[in-house]
Amino acid sequence: MSLTLERPPSPTDPRPHAVVVGSGFGGLAAAVRLGARGYRVTVLERLDSPGGRAIVHRQDGFTFDAGPTIVTAPFLLEELWALAGRRLADDVELRPITPFYRIRFHDGAQFDYTGDADAMRAEVARFNPADVPGYARFLAASEAIFRVGFEKLGHVSFAHWTSMARAVPDLLRLGSLRTVHGLVSKHIQDERLRTVLSFHPLLVGGNPFSASSIYALIAFLERRWGVHFAMGGTGALVQGLVGLIEGQGGQVRLNSDVAEITVADGAATGVRLQDGTAIPAHVVVSNADASWTYRHLLSKGHKRRRWTDRRIKWSRHSMSLFVWYFGTSRQYDDVAHHTILLGPRYKELLRDIFKRHRLADDFSLYLHRPTATDNSMAPPGCDAFYVLSPVPHLDSGTDWAVVAEEYRAAIAAELERTILPGLQAATVTSRVMTPQDFHDRLLSYRGAAFGMEPLLMQSAWFRPHNRSEEVDRLYLVGAGTHPGAGLPGVLCSAKVLDEVVPDAATVLA
Ligand SMILES: Cc1cc2nc3c(=O)[nH]c(=O)nc-3n(C[C@H](O)[C@H](O)[C@H](O)COP(=O)(O)OP(=O)(O)OC[C@H]3O[C@@H](n4cnc5c(N)ncnc54)[C@H](O)[C@@H]3O)c2cc1C
Repeated sequence: MSLTLERPPSPTDPRPHAVVVGSGFGGLAAAVRLGARGYRVTVLERLDSPGGRAIVHRQDGFTFDAGPTIVTAPFLLEELWALAGRRLADDVELRPITPFYRIRFHDGAQFDYTGDADAMRAEVARFNPADVPGYARFLAASEAIFRVGFEKLGHVSFAHWTSMARAVPDLLRLGSLRTVHGLVSKHIQDERLRTVLSFHPLLVGGNPFSASSIYALIAFLERRWGVHFAMGGTGALVQGLVGLIEGQGGQVRLNSDVAEITVADGAATGVRLQDGTAIPAHVVVSNADASWTYRHLLSKGHKRRRWTDRRIKWSRHSMSLFVWYFGTSRQYDDVAHHTILLGPRYKELLRDIFKRHRLADDFSLYLHRPTATDNSMAPPGCDAFYVLSPVPHLDSGTDWAVVAEEYRAAIAAELERTILPGLQAATVTSRVMTPQDFHDRLLSYRGAAFGMEPLLMQSAWFRPHNRSEEVDRLYLVGAGTHPGAGLPGVLCSAKVLDEVVPDAATVLA
């Protein structure tokens, strides 16, 4: 393969060069932070538009955000805009959503999950009056966990085991060895309320029956700052971040597939693209899946000490997702913005997905209807939707090319039977994303949708570090690194870079 060396940095731009591999939220946030610290930043994205899991599909007049739609912790986004000298509100309107989620049980009973304390108490009492005091105790526990898990530990780099050792007393005091479902069950008796209050780990790729109770902090985060929708779709946030990077004099280069992170004398020196172009850099940040970065992107000649292929293989990876995006020629006004449709099984279904890696016949679904809040997402009189079903990652051996249409049709039939009558006749546009797409397009190891599973022994110091343990001047952000998946998680991973990436002036010295 011929090797072309990219032109050196412009003589008029003396800033040190940072290359970011991947334009997911973690990568874009890292780029803004490095730009604000005096780096000239180039983001390299293999796909033809930015956003990673948050890429936007426009089809037949409908706008489909491919991934994240539940925006929490808006202050993390506001911070990025402030670093670039702007205000988030000038570029994107975040609109609060209520209810946060409508949870529909298999028997048709519904629970409206909101941020309003009185309304929540009333909903809890409607299911089981005896659980109202326990609900208050659960909320207090969730806040205490947030104060430590998010405020104290969320932005710590955990580069040394000593930082982990310092966190252990707090983690033990908060009962982090217990699972989220275990914590909820300590306070709540009613099985259905236990489900309602314990599903949050699924939003970051975790099984409520295995994820550490530290993830119960999400309940407080949502209640304190709300659940929001970015008007115009999550894509508006992606475009906003790209605008910030360009405003700092950085660039986001699409269709740029990184084949290798080049290394000399134990330090990253830049990247080489699939077409052979070499791009030198003073620091390299990988927003590609952490497992994939170590298995495939690090120079072949470099011997890995910690993240060997063997260790990655034995790590537990999150579930994957089957996502069906569809548009209807009519509107379903009584369907909330976010609906969770629970199937007949909860614990056993999760066991099939996470432990047995078996694609079950039944499913639990999350249905997104952005047109409940923003009519611009679909042509007049129409609704845009996506529905996602948590499924095992590729270790299930499922041949998605064969199974996808049958699986989609089963979901469509269930939605038609429950809350979208007449759906099949009203469907005017359709596309799917399967675990195979997570693997082939987004380069996610095992097709996992959220990187490594959020387990206590795969968190903080135990997770791939934000400053690479393998190579100097290489940094990692995104769902597979600390603190983990979800928009707040990956935005925090970028924030850790402020602690571990040297100042621009030092790099040039
Ligand atoms: C369907 C779905 C719904 C979700 N819903 C929510 C939600 O409502 N709220 C929430 O907070 N979170 C949600 N999440 C989780 C959240 O979207 C992710 O955790 C987060 O967006 C991941 O960001 P990331 O920084 O890890 O980058 P990613 O989005 O994983 O992007 C990584 C990028 O790197 C690129 N890349 C990889 N390898 C290379 C290479 N070699 N060269 C160049 N580019 C490369 C990829 O193409 C990709 O664009 C959802 C996830 C999914 C899948």
